[in-house]
Amino acid sequence: PATADLEALQYADVAALLPVPGAGSDKYRRGVVGIAAGSARYPGAAVLAVAGALRGGAGAVRYVGPAADAVIDRYPETLVHAGPPSKAGRVQAWVVGPGLGDDAERVRDVLAADVPVLVDADGLRLADRATVRARTAPTLLTPHAGEAAALLGVDRAEVEAARLASVRRLAEAYGATVLLKGSTTLVAAPGGRPVRVNPTGTSWLATAGSGDVLSGLAGSLLAAGLSPVDAASAAAFLHGLAARLAARGAPVGAQDVAEGVRGAWREVVAG
Ligand code: AMP
Ligand code: MG
Repeated sequence: PATADLEALQYADVAALLPVPGAGSDKYRRGVVGIAAGSARYPGAAVLAVAGALRGGAGAVRYVGPAADAVIDRYPETLVHAGPPSKAGRVQAWVVGPGLGDDAERVRDVLAADVPVLVDADGLRLADRATVRARTAPTLLTPHAGEAAALLGVDRAEVEAARLASVRRLAEAYGATVLLKGSTTLVAAPGGRPVRVNPTGTSWLATAGSGDVLSGLAGSLLAAGLSPVDAASAAAFLHGLAARLAARGAPVGAQDVAEGVRGAWREVVAG
């Protein structure tokens, strides 16, 4: 692809995006992020999405779903709710999908909210395209190649062979910002050129649950007020750097990546 089609994110770009609370800030002004993730079968996805969200700069993290006990056990600072997302109280951005199973109703309920929504994992399978297109608040989709292929109705190999074209097609088809995960992570907005490419990725990220951490992190930045493109690209940048810092040449798990986000943040701010 021509270089004008792609824009690599730099440290200084990301540093300028990271939300820093002012003296007069409070938790609501910093943003409340809602996490609709997890199931009885996959409670860990909820814990990991919450872990990412807690590192992303929002003032509070609300969790809605059946994994509340697991979440609160690991992160007691989380506000947990058992009912539907629409009854959870104030939320400035939602993350829906990691480990959700087949709970289509939870996805519908989140997509009806008039705030930015990040859709990942099972949420991508359950989200109705017309519903996403009709949303007035922004939507951010975060598929890996297999999930992107399912959304486009093509084989995974086709997406892998044409990642730039695929991320653009998806953004147009859904009228949404799309973060396409993989060995290079791309971020495209509908009608928006150039596509952003994340330079910090590392193959140590190819580990179960790391995508769940990313969804929480990006959702937190959305709740803090970043645009979907900025939230997605800053989250991908921090996530890759966090994995590098945590790994330093040895294998990491998704929790280690979440733990690495704070060091990554400091490194980005320091330039
Ligand atoms: P998921 O597929 O949802 O589990 O997310 C996996 C995460 O790891 C995403 O952030 C991917 O971009 C990242 N990832 C997976 N494989 C690689 C790779 N080979 N190089 C760099 N990042 C990767
Ligand atoms: Mg995933």
